[in-house]
Amino acid sequence: MKSIAIFGSTGSIGTHALDVIARHPERYRIQTLVVHSQIEPLWAQIIQFAPRTVGVADPLAAAVLRARVQAEIADKNLRPEVVSDPYAIAALAADKGVDCVVAAIVGVAGLASTWAAVCAGKQVLLANKESLVAAGQLMMSAARASGATILPIDSEHNAIFQCLPSGACAPEAVLKLILTASGGPFRSLPLSAFADITPADACRHPNWSMGRKISVDSATMMNKGLEVIEAAWLFSMPPDRIEVVVHPQSVIHSMVQYADGSMLAQLGRPDMRTPIAHALAWPERIDSGVAPLDLCAVSGLQFEAPDLQRFPCLGLAFQAIAQGGAAPLVLNAANEIAVAAFLDHRLSFSQIPQVIEATLDAAFTGTATAAPQSMDEVLFQDAMARTLARSVLTKLNPCLEHSLPATEPPTC
Ligand code: NDP
Repeated sequence: MKSIAIFGSTGSIGTHALDVIARHPERYRIQTLVVHSQIEPLWAQIIQFAPRTVGVADPLAAAVLRARVQAEIADKNLRPEVVSDPYAIAALAADKGVDCVVAAIVGVAGLASTWAAVCAGKQVLLANKESLVAAGQLMMSAARASGATILPIDSEHNAIFQCLPSGACAPEAVLKLILTASGGPFRSLPLSAFADITPADACRHPNWSMGRKISVDSATMMNKGLEVIEAAWLFSMPPDRIEVVVHPQSVIHSMVQYADGSMLAQLGRPDMRTPIAHALAWPERIDSGVAPLDLCAVSGLQFEAPDLQRFPCLGLAFQAIAQGGAAPLVLNAANEIAVAAFLDHRLSFSQIPQVIEATLDAAFTGTATAAPQSMDEVLFQDAMARTLARSVLTKLNPCLEHSLPATEPPTC
C-alpha cells in the first residue's frame, strides 16, 4: 500500500490523479491533500478518501474547513488535521508517513512543497514544471543527494521517460528529445484577430482539459518553452538537443531520436490519467480508466515547425534558455504575473510577451545573472522579477496601476 500526498488536489492534475487512485484502493491510500482555497471540492475528497491531514493555504478557508470537520465528522479517528501555516503545509511533503508526493500546485507556489519532498528523498510525481524552471539545478542535485525519484507526469516528459532506454545504452546514442506541441487554440487564427482574444478563448484548448494558467501558457506556447527547460533538467540533455514540433492531433505525446535512425514515440489519447497512472505504478502498469487509442479513427498525423512570429513567448523561452543562469527563473516569474493579469482582464493576450520581454531586459540589462545557489536566492530572485514585471505591467497599462494586487511570495 503506497501512501500518497497530493499537492493541488482540487486542480486538473489533482482530480485526474484521484480518479486513477480511486480505481486501485488495494494499492494506494491518500495520506494528505493540499489546496489553496477551494474547500467545497476538497470536502468531497475528504469524505471519499479520508486523508489524515489536509493543507489549505488560505487561512480563512482553513478556519471554515476546521469548523466543518469538527461539526460534521462524528468519528474523531476520521477527522483530518487541517494545516494552513505555509511552512507546515510544505513540511507535509516530507512527512515520514508519505511515500509518494504528487506535485500539482500551479506556479512557483508549488516550489516549497516540491523542494521539501525532494529533500526528504520521496518519490515525486512532478507536474509542477515551474519548480524545475525556477530551481532546476538545485532540485536535481538535491534529488541526487537525498535519493528522491522524480517521475514526470507532464505528458510530454512522461512520454520521453517511457521512450528512453532503460538498459545499457551510451548517452550519446540518444541524439535528440522531440517535444510535441498541439499549437493550442490559436494555431491558425489570423494574427489580426489576436488583439481580441479573451481569457475564455485562451482557456478553450482543442485537445486537453487543463487548469487556467497552463491553458493560457499553451495558447501562447510558453508552456512548450517551460517544457524544454523542464526536459533539459529532468533528462540532463543540452537544450540544443531538444526540439519542439507542432503536432495538432496530440496523439504522439513526444519522441526520442536515436543514433541508429530509430525514433521512439509514445502514443495515446490526450488524457492526463495515462501519464499519471504510468508514474503512480512505475515500473508496473495499471488501468488508468483511459480507453485505448483507436488507430483507425485517427485521421492523420501532422507535424510542422513552430511559428515564432505567431508565438513570441516560445522565442523568449529559447532566448532565456540560451542565456542560462537566472534567465529562466525571471522568464517564469514574468510569465506568471502576465498570465494572471490577462486572466484578470488587466492585460491583452498580445501584451503577455511584451511584459515578459521587458522584464527580462530590465532584469539583465545586457549582463548575465548567475543561477541561484540556494533556495533563499531562488525566492529572492523570483520576488525581484515579480516586482519588475508588475512595474512593466503598470507602465504598459498605467490606468491599472492601483488595481494590481500584490502577489504572495512563496516560502520555503
Ligand atoms: P489548476 O489550476 O487546475 O490547479 C491548481 C491546484 O493548485 C489547485 O488544487 C489549487 O487549489 C492549488 N493551489 C494553487 N495555489 C496554491 C497554493 N498557494 N497553495 C496550495 N495549493 C495551491 O492547475 P493544473 O492542475 O492544470 O496544473 C497544475 C500543475 O501541473 C501546473 O504546474 C501545470 O503546469 C502542470 N501541468 C498540468 C497539466 C494539466 O493537464 N492540467 C499537464 C501538465 C502539467 P484551489 O483549487 O484551492 O485553488
